[in-house]
Amino acid sequence: MRISRPITRTALVLFAVVLASAALTAQTPPDKFLGHRVGEDRKLADYTQIKAYFEKLDQESNRLKLFTIGESVLKKPIVMAAISTPENLAKLDRWKEITHKLRDPRVTSVDEARNLAREGKAIVLITCSLHATEIAASQMSMELAYDLVTGKTFFDAGKTLDDVVVLLVPSHNPDGNQMVVDWYEKYVGTQYEGGNMPWLYHHYAGHDNNRDWYMSNLPETRAVTRVLYHDWLPQIHVDEHQQGSNGARLFVPPFMDPPLPNIQPSVWRGVNLVGTGMSYDLQKHGLSGVVNGRSYTAWWIGACDDTSWLHNVIGILSEAASVRVASPIYIEPNEIQAGFHEKRMDYVDPWPGGWWRLRDLVDYELVLSKSMIKTAGLHKEDLLFNFYQMSKNSVEKVDKGQPYAFVIPAVQRDYPTTLKMLEVLKMGGVEIHQAKADFIAGGRFYNAGSFVVKTAQPYKTFAWALLEKQKYPDMRQYPGGPPIPPYDNAAWTLPLQMGVLCDEVEEAFEAKLEKIDAVPYPKVPAQGKSDYFVLDARVNASYAMAFALLKDGAEVWRTNRKTALKGHDLQAGCFVVKNSAAVKKALPALAEKLDLAVLDVDDVSGLEKTPVKFPRIGLFQSWRGNMDEGWTRYVFDDMAIPFKSLHNADIKGTKDVKPDLRADFDVIVFADENANTIKGTRPGATPGGGAESPMARQFRQGPVPPEYEGGIGQEGVDALKAFVEKGGRLVALNGASEFAITEFGAPARNSLSGVDRAKFFCPTSLLRILVDNETPIGYGMPKEAVAMFVNSLALDTFSPSYDWDRKVVAAYPEDEILMSGWLLGEEYLARKAAVVDTKWKDGRIILIGIRCQSRAQSHGTYKFLLNALLYPKAE
Ligand SMILES: [Zn+2]
Repeated sequence: MRISRPITRTALVLFAVVLASAALTAQTPPDKFLGHRVGEDRKLADYTQIKAYFEKLDQESNRLKLFTIGESVLKKPIVMAAISTPENLAKLDRWKEITHKLRDPRVTSVDEARNLAREGKAIVLITCSLHATEIAASQMSMELAYDLVTGKTFFDAGKTLDDVVVLLVPSHNPDGNQMVVDWYEKYVGTQYEGGNMPWLYHHYAGHDNNRDWYMSNLPETRAVTRVLYHDWLPQIHVDEHQQGSNGARLFVPPFMDPPLPNIQPSVWRGVNLVGTGMSYDLQKHGLSGVVNGRSYTAWWIGACDDTSWLHNVIGILSEAASVRVASPIYIEPNEIQAGFHEKRMDYVDPWPGGWWRLRDLVDYELVLSKSMIKTAGLHKEDLLFNFYQMSKNSVEKVDKGQPYAFVIPAVQRDYPTTLKMLEVLKMGGVEIHQAKADFIAGGRFYNAGSFVVKTAQPYKTFAWALLEKQKYPDMRQYPGGPPIPPYDNAAWTLPLQMGVLCDEVEEAFEAKLEKIDAVPYPKVPAQGKSDYFVLDARVNASYAMAFALLKDGAEVWRTNRKTALKGHDLQAGCFVVKNSAAVKKALPALAEKLDLAVLDVDDVSGLEKTPVKFPRIGLFQSWRGNMDEGWTRYVFDDMAIPFKSLHNADIKGTKDVKPDLRADFDVIVFADENANTIKGTRPGATPGGGAESPMARQFRQGPVPPEYEGGIGQEGVDALKAFVEKGGRLVALNGASEFAITEFGAPARNSLSGVDRAKFFCPTSLLRILVDNETPIGYGMPKEAVAMFVNSLALDTFSPSYDWDRKVVAAYPEDEILMSGWLLGEEYLARKAAVVDTKWKDGRIILIGIRCQSRAQSHGTYKFLLNALLYPKAE
């Protein structure tokens, strides 16, 4: 409000009263704006409408301010509303300043913190419908905003908002929201109503956008991460989801075992306080079927709400029972899942069954959201001071097993990837130092320029968890019995995934350290003066540059063996590039973009090398929304690798037209997917190759329109056989290897198929592999590497028939296989192959039986895939 002339105090008060009451009456309810009740059967607001509604409230109310916090992959603005009293909204910078001060006990004393907690406002964040099919929360958000600005709450909204600033993100997956609404509306009233979309509900990640919360590959993740750990620093964060239809109506915390050990106990106390408050308020509103302490663990899986825990934020997950998008469902009492049909102390008021509608979800979510705000208001000062106290613990208290620091040496196999890892840490709010002089730590020598992450810092838990090796507790159904599987990852250790050296140092050490504000990118030296240059095969960015140059017609070779050149020991597989006029022109910008130094060479006649051609790449995309396919696309786009998506019809052709795949492609890649899904001949084939979470699977129900049914069929298999016969390369990632083995008869067998879970079990963990890095698929890899095992394979190869050959590229060692996570039955992996390069007739089938590009996180094993694309071939 801008006042242009002096007015009396009374006039000012009167004016304010008039304004406030005007503001309270002028607001448009969402029902009126949309033309239907929020959550009405078969009615959805899409992102455009949701955003427009928030913009309207922003104009109409002085209690809501709308911000744009980022942009989605498909360029939609991501909006966030701040809702509070007009007085609080006028001083948002002050409230942020206070939370920033409270986060750092090194600059804020206890007394100061007490005063700041008294003065400050609790900041709470609600994020909705990250999983776009779980659409209720995005709809609910409009009504929640309206109720808060107009005081339609079961507590004194005015009084509460005096103490609380509510941040509300109506959808942090706007692209997905739009896709889901479009698909739903297209088929409403048909037999496909409320069924699955044949593609991912996020351009790259689909359901996996909730595993991106440490890596921050996606712009949507970065937008909310900035709100959480850089800009606003809320003390409570609620992320609202949906679960299967036949169990509890709603899950809210407490969570179940196991907890990630390094998380502060006060986080759990806060989570339980807020969660129990929600259950209490839901009960008060007569909303039955609320469960706590089941299904969802306190182990970190890199999800949105749980990454908050590692930043001393009270992170809450809510999971409401789903309907069929916006179509109601009826559940017979006997259809209610076992365990949810009778009273238990964690489920005191069972839901009896009956009709279940989108509006029911909206009602539950309205109450739980408001309840959290109420609790924040009641405990505002505590929450703020506790946030400080947890930071103080993080900085001052030494926890059991806590190392002094992690050191990331300056000398690395792949420096640009090391810098990428530092960016990931920075995005998560981790403080990083750089050594200005050589130093010794933990008995080891480190060069100046090495990086140090001290654990004593406000976001200790996050830094520590990301850099340490995980040890998942050995949890069994009964002593000696089958394991209780984790909800998702048992491990994520970033340096292991990214192939970056990082040492844990137990004891304090002296070093000349300087805190870095931004990741220091070294100046790429002027280069490319000679007739040729060499790109280091150990560096992922070399592959990106090779692709860029090959695309422009550059002449490129790969070295066949280890070579010493100009004082450098070059590993086999380095790229040799002829420095033509066009290359000279393109090189500086590419080198700058990729932070890549090249090695100038005048004479390459002494190098044993084989030419490599620009590969025309096809990537199979099934109509089952395969997340691993999405992440593969992400990796390709991120490295500017051109490719074409291939659907069933592109591979199998039509009755009249049989495609000649070899005429159009050199390489065809199959992402991790179930063999039956790819072929699609078995009715009811399950999707996902095990890559899909149970939460995603529950939405896969009902018939799909005929054009999206089935797989590539036998015709597709035959077309692929013709492709390989004529010299094509087929690359099968993880589960897709089974497809290649079954359909082509590749000389390998998955020794894990049919093995009992009580004997062998390895849930998403990091394992040691031994690599032959003098064979093309192993080029650039270290001899010993770490692979992400996700329902992966352990291959027995055998002496093949005359038209086949096979080369084991990577295998599990004899023992000490587990690097991070959980592994039962190591002997089932010992000496088995993980990556096999097979040759059939003129072509190749490359079996990569691990998740080499897992969620675009495991940069350390990208090369298996990249080598399969840039396979050298003698003319
Ligand atoms: Zn979800």
